[in-house]
Parts: sequence; C-alpha cells; structure tokens
Amino acid sequence: MGEDMKNTEYSNIYWHRSEITRRDREILNGHRGFTLWFTGLSASGKSTLAVATEKELYERACHTYILDGDNVRHGLNSNLGFSKEDREENIRRLGEVAKLFRDCGIINITAFISPYLNDRKSARDLGAEGEFIEIFADCPLQVCEKRDPKGVYKKAREGVIKEFTGISAPYEAPQDPEIHLRTDKLTVEECVHVIIQYLLSHHYLDPLTVERFLSEHS
Ligand code: ADP
Repeated sequence: MGEDMKNTEYSNIYWHRSEITRRDREILNGHRGFTLWFTGLSASGKSTLAVATEKELYERACHTYILDGDNVRHGLNSNLGFSKEDREENIRRLGEVAKLFRDCGIINITAFISPYLNDRKSARDLGAEGEFIEIFADCPLQVCEKRDPKGVYKKAREGVIKEFTGISAPYEAPQDPEIHLRTDKLTVEECVHVIIQYLLSHHYLDPLTVERFLSEHS
C-alpha cells in the first residue's frame, strides 16, 4: 500500500468518543487500569507468575485479564511467525491490546517473551507514566533449558524450531525494569509476594472511589 493511500484512508477515520470515560470505568471497578508486562526467556516463569499473580489480585477483588503469548498466537496473531518483523508486529498489536484493557480500567497481565528493548519501549510509550510495570522474569538460559516444560528448547537445539530466543535469536534483557525477579532463586510464592508488595507500596491497589476521585480533582 502506498503512503498516499494510507494518508487518504487515515484522513477519513475519526475517533468516536464514548460518553463513559476510563475514569468512570475505573471507579466502577474500584481500582485503576494498568499493565503488568512480564518479559523473559521461554520457561523463565512468565505464564506461571502471571497466573499466580492474577489469582492473588482476584482475591483482592481486582478486575484482571491475562494475555499469554502462546494463546494470542492461536487467534489474534495466528498470521504471525517468529522473524524479527513478525515479533515486532506481535508486540505492537499486543501493546495496543494492553492499552485497550487499561482503558477498560482492567489490570492486564501479559506473558510474552518480548525479546526486543525497542518493542517493549513502544508498548510502554502507548501509556502514561506509571501505567506499564515491566517485570523481568530473570532466569539463566541453562536453568530454563533444564526446566523446558514444553520441550521447546530440545526442539530448538535439534533445529526443529528456528529463530528460538536464547538459542538462535537474541533476548535483550531489560535495563531498568520496575520489578526484577530471579526466578531460579525465588519460589513462585516469593515472586508473587514481591509483585504484590510493589503494587501496594506504589498505591496501585488503593481503592478508587467516587469520593476519592472528586477530592483529588476538586
Ligand atoms: P514461560 O511462560 O516463561 O515460558 P512457564 O511459566 O511456562 O514459563 O514455565 C516456568 C516453569 O518454571 C514452570 O514449570 C514453573 O513451575 C517453574 N518455576 C520454578 N520456579 C519458578 C518461579 N520462581 N517463578 C516461575 N516459575 C517457576
């Protein structure tokens, strides 16, 4: 598609506003919408921690939703492979989906390898300051390979899976994540505890009520 055609198309597309704002939805939910973005090698523990964290948040009456890397590749991103371009597009779409969830006032938990610094930065930049909490599931490659719950490292070593992160494709570790977890040293429970403590100490889970919203904005 040429640039001109793109521009013509965009100039005829308008943003249609809803009468219900994000704030309205957050007040209804009783908390803010934000994203917990897990990143790390395959088998570093992203999905396990996403599920365990969601359970803990659910018990605290929070509205949550997990976007899991493998799951979204069955549907929304079923047309994408694992080349650098497709991985970029994968994360670009998921960054946009995460933004939609925030707009719904939902705590959205993502579990994607998301190996490139730039792609994670682009996903972060779609939101305001503090809405994107990057959690580095940090685990040495040898440990991940030993865990190999899905047998994917074995297949990557045999060359059955090409462009596999950590083996035949790069992983760019976060330089300054909000939360850094050594998942080879901590238990799942300890990791979840660190995450919940971070959310509590940074006031992410404070009840958001109409009264509080009005007092903050009057
Ligand atoms: P990923 O989603 O990163 O590919 P998974 O969550 O599917 O990884 O697998 C991680 C494996 O490591 C699981 O079998 C899990 O039980 C195990 N594990 C051991 N310690 C931890 C920990 N601290 N955090 C998360 N997973 C852990």
